[in-house]
Amino acid sequence: MDDLRKWGGLFLLIIGLILGVSGAIVLCMEDSSKGGAVVMLALGIAAVTGGVLLNRQGERQIQEGIHESRLDAIRAQVARASARGRTAGPQAIPALKPERIEALRAMARDGRLPLNPVEAGLACLNCGVEAELRNVELSQHTGLLVVREHRTVRGLLCRHCIVGIANQFNSHNLKFGWWGPKSLIGTLVALPTNASHRREAEKMAPPDADAVPPELTPELVARLKPAAVGIADALVAGKEPRMVFQTVADKFSVSPGEALLFAAALAAQDGKA
Ligand SMILES: [Zn+2]
Repeated sequence: MDDLRKWGGLFLLIIGLILGVSGAIVLCMEDSSKGGAVVMLALGIAAVTGGVLLNRQGERQIQEGIHESRLDAIRAQVARASARGRTAGPQAIPALKPERIEALRAMARDGRLPLNPVEAGLACLNCGVEAELRNVELSQHTGLLVVREHRTVRGLLCRHCIVGIANQFNSHNLKFGWWGPKSLIGTLVALPTNASHRREAEKMAPPDADAVPPELTPELVARLKPAAVGIADALVAGKEPRMVFQTVADKFSVSPGEALLFAAALAAQDGKA
């Protein structure tokens, strides 16, 4: 759909410009008011349709899609872990009472139980690694005369990703941000904002060099198995999930994101205990 809007907008813009140029030629050659009318009409078509179709294009965020998957994604993760290892299949997830599972699922459905470390604010929105995070909004602007493209990354990011994206966006802004009134204003705001986020990020602790996003591995399931009932009870009792994950992480030498993945797997299991 975005592609359709983009290419449709560009197509209409080009048609409008061609008509505008032809109109201008007619105007010069024939000294008639017809040419002037065609120019006005064509530029109008180009500006309005191209603008409407293109204006929102590009206002996409990296977090798109995170909320779509939910329990199905967790089941897929359990299945993948099962295919890789010996013990972390669906059968290895400690069976809870069906009413406990149903309570956890209800929490997952209405968003009280996060199913993803990124969604819970425990991992970087861009790379998925657990590290020190900072809430930022980084913008990139592309001026296309009457229309503009605007891209935003908004959320909790690690030092590495803030610095990388801020540099990438600002080098784009410097090259392409000036060529339209709206993107010019956007660029004037984005350049110092992105730079200040980068400066602040440089004071943060970087993620470990070999850090990868948390995963539900057979070893993790085996380690957290004794905590299953306690985790479910604490969550269903209404304890703040991030506090529960932190407590489990401290006690069982895992990361909070790993504790979350285990809790999500408890919620995603079949309720046939
Ligand atoms: Zn990151």
